[in-house]
Amino acid sequence: MSQALENLLTEDRKFEPSPGFAAKAKAKPGIHEDAADDYLDFWHRQALQRITWHKEPTQVLDDSNPPFFEWFADGELNISFNCLDRHLGEHGDQVAYHWVGEPGDKRTLTYRDLHSEVCRFANGLLSLGLAKGDRVAIYMGMVPELPIAMLACARLGLVHSVVFGGFSSDALSSRILDAEARVVITQDGAWRAGNVVQLKANADVALASTPDVSHVVVLKRTDHGVDMTEGRDMWWHDLVDGQSDECEPAVLGAEDPLYILYTSGTTGRPKGIVHTQGGYLTGIVTTHHYIFDHEPDTDVYWCGADIGWVTGHSYIVYGPLSNRATSVMYEGAPNFPDLDRLWQIIEEYGVTIFYTAPTAIRTFMKWGDEHVTKHDLSSLRLIGTVGEPINPEAWIWYQKTIGGGGCPVVDTWWQTETGAAMISPLPGVVATKPGSATVPFPGIFADVVDDAGESVPLGGGGYLVITKPWPAMARTIYGDDQRYADTYWSRFPGLYFPGDGAKRDLDGYFWLLGRVDDIMLVSGHNISTTEVESALVSHVSVAEAAVVGRRDDVTGQAIAAFVTLRSGVEGDEDLIQELRDHVANTLGPIAKPKSIVFTDDLPKTRSGKIMRRLLQDISEQRQLGDVTTLANEAVVHEIAEKAAETTED
Ligand code: ATP
Ligand code: MG
Repeated sequence: MSQALENLLTEDRKFEPSPGFAAKAKAKPGIHEDAADDYLDFWHRQALQRITWHKEPTQVLDDSNPPFFEWFADGELNISFNCLDRHLGEHGDQVAYHWVGEPGDKRTLTYRDLHSEVCRFANGLLSLGLAKGDRVAIYMGMVPELPIAMLACARLGLVHSVVFGGFSSDALSSRILDAEARVVITQDGAWRAGNVVQLKANADVALASTPDVSHVVVLKRTDHGVDMTEGRDMWWHDLVDGQSDECEPAVLGAEDPLYILYTSGTTGRPKGIVHTQGGYLTGIVTTHHYIFDHEPDTDVYWCGADIGWVTGHSYIVYGPLSNRATSVMYEGAPNFPDLDRLWQIIEEYGVTIFYTAPTAIRTFMKWGDEHVTKHDLSSLRLIGTVGEPINPEAWIWYQKTIGGGGCPVVDTWWQTETGAAMISPLPGVVATKPGSATVPFPGIFADVVDDAGESVPLGGGGYLVITKPWPAMARTIYGDDQRYADTYWSRFPGLYFPGDGAKRDLDGYFWLLGRVDDIMLVSGHNISTTEVESALVSHVSVAEAAVVGRRDDVTGQAIAAFVTLRSGVEGDEDLIQELRDHVANTLGPIAKPKSIVFTDDLPKTRSGKIMRRLLQDISEQRQLGDVTTLANEAVVHEIAEKAAETTED
């Protein structure tokens, strides 16, 4: 990392835990050392303490067949029992979800309500003749029936594959086929930004090319008409009609599969990641408890992700329910009907813990503070972020404007494949630095290595690796063990390679530098996209930025930048010059973008991540690569036109 960015990021921007918070925090100093002392024992203790087992595991890690590791293999449990039944005795009336529909309708589901809905739906699924291990595709919006469907599958040992409701029919059919799903659960339509997303109609198109699907269950959410195919399609309400609200949870082995979930597709063809029961649950309940400092009796917790992504699986459904959280769940868009919708919800429900993504935070910054400050957000006591490296500027804004200056910010680094958060501050224990995910979670071991796999001394950068297995780790890519071994375990033998670059500062803090595939090589210097983007975002006029290295005859690669300005700012030649100078002053002349294109939006995955590889395709005038996970196709064409007209330095 360059000296200048170092300056942006060091000591004077370090936030020590407040003594008041630390005194009450779930995590205590020494927890990292305690876990490192005997990490298998640490995870075994978490598994026994936080999970109700049908049969407690005596085995911890089985590493006899790497990279196919197993955890708690002789344990038996049911995750839906852990999420529901075990709370009913004393806490059946506690709210599990405060659900807010986009049009303004609301539902409150207690743990008892959720339990009976899950049992009724599980009995309905049984009546379709499904058996343990069968795959079920779920293509829904953010309605309570989505976690209900997932929990019903978990109750029966069915393997769900949730496909994000914003995906097209092509993306859906390829996922149905890859997972060999026999049943699809969907809904007539989902509310999004005042419109109905026609999920059933999309599913119908997908189903034309998935002959093995025998049943389609359709939830009625809108008044939008749908075509029902006789003999294949049935309404949710008809399926559960008359079903008992008791359903015996299946006794499952810790290593039985729980779900398949496809990665976001930021870097290419999505991978069907397989997670299992016991290790996965151990990882998410432990991280949810400590990282969010979660207190079941008093907190109102809101993870604003979509359940279609791993963040929603782990931190809206399985982690919080198992830890008996009261959660808020919101159906729709953050700007509907107005730009203050989320802040209005936080105020209304007195949300105490809020978890969102850098892309959302940058969007809120762009919209302007006035939408936030008109609401009382003083109930918040902890805020978190996940999904991309967070630019220090956005971190500071988040801490001040949303967190009111006093909330710990937890920047959590993890992936679909890791199942649970891996690198994150523990509030009350670990001091934070804006832009750094800080240190590995207790019992997780990470390193930064060079090309040869040798550990890089503190202060240096390279490839992020995880050096020991962890309970919530992926078990494989569905149907493709070889791709799993090749993608994650072959670059550095014996080490898990997530595909991200990182550096560690002299305090041992990790700074994520973006995908290694995105790292630029300019005149023989490695330059990270994250660094240059963060330098651009630190300029007052800039809301969001993406940079890529494009082929250049002289320097090998040249930096091409794509910049979205804050609302009210106009981009012109003078501003381009100013931004180039700003980057040069912040990071050094080598990092100066050769070209800058202003654009109203950046190409993003449907989970909101910047798709740099498409910008690179545009910059090098190539045909675009895989666009199935692209959210906003029009933007790509707009940028291509502008890029063609852009003058270079
Ligand atoms: P694909 O693997 O299909 O390309 P993806 O990697 O975007 O898609 P996810 O599993 O949703 O799919 O995302 C995980 C990635 O997101 C991480 O590997 C990392 O690059 C990025 N990421 C997540 N959280 C953070 C964070 N807190 N800081 C930096 N990067 C993060
Ligand atoms: Mg990935």
